[in-house]
Amino acid sequence: VEQHLILDDMAIRRALTRIAHEILEKNKGVDNCMLIGIRTRGIYLAQRVAERIQDIEGVPIPVGELDITLYRDDRARLKSVESAEKGGSLNIQDKKIILFDDVLYTGRTVRAALDALIDLGRPQMIQLAVLIDRGHRELPIRPDYVGKNVPTSKQEKIEVKLNEVDGQDGVVILHN
Ligand code: 5GP
Ligand code: MG
Repeated sequence: VEQHLILDDMAIRRALTRIAHEILEKNKGVDNCMLIGIRTRGIYLAQRVAERIQDIEGVPIPVGELDITLYRDDRARLKSVESAEKGGSLNIQDKKIILFDDVLYTGRTVRAALDALIDLGRPQMIQLAVLIDRGHRELPIRPDYVGKNVPTSKQEKIEVKLNEVDGQDGVVILHN
C-alpha cells in the first residue's frame, strides 16, 4: 500500500482556521449557531473550529456530539460536548446547525445525521463542514465548508489522524 500525505498538521490548522472564518462570514457572526460533530473525529473538528471562532469573535459557540450509531435507540444521541459527562442535552429548535464530519463520501452518514437531527427538533438551518471531500456521492448532499477536495478512486482510502484520538495530526491517502 502506497501512502501520500495530503495535509500535514499545519495544513489542517490552516484549513480549520479558514473554515472558522467562512462560517463567520456566511452566517454574519455566530448568533444562534451551534456546531455538531459526528462520531469521533467530527467532534474534535467541531471543537477546534469552535475554539477559533471564540478567538476571532470573542463569543462562545455551543458544541454538540452526534452519535448516529445510537440512532435507533431511545437514548439521547445528541449531547453537549461541555456537559458530556452529565449527559447534557442540546436544544436544536430554531438553531443554525453546522454539522461536522472528517470525510464525506457517499453522503449516507450525513443523511442519517440529518434524519437524527430533524427527529430532535426543527433547526432553522443545517450546514455541512467536512475536512475531506473524497467524492463519489450517492445522494444529493454537498458540503458548505471543505478543508480539501480530494478526488479519489473507490479503492483508495483516506486516513484522517487527529491529535485528540491518534496522537498526531495528518491526512494520508492510501493507494493499493
Ligand atoms: P459516507 O457515509 O459519506 O459514505 O462516508 C462518510 C463516513 O464514513 C464518515 O463518517 C467518514 O468518517 C467515513 N469515511 C468514508 N470514507 C472514508 C475514508 O476514505 N476515510 C475515512 N477516514 N473515513 C471515511
Ligand atoms: Mg466517521
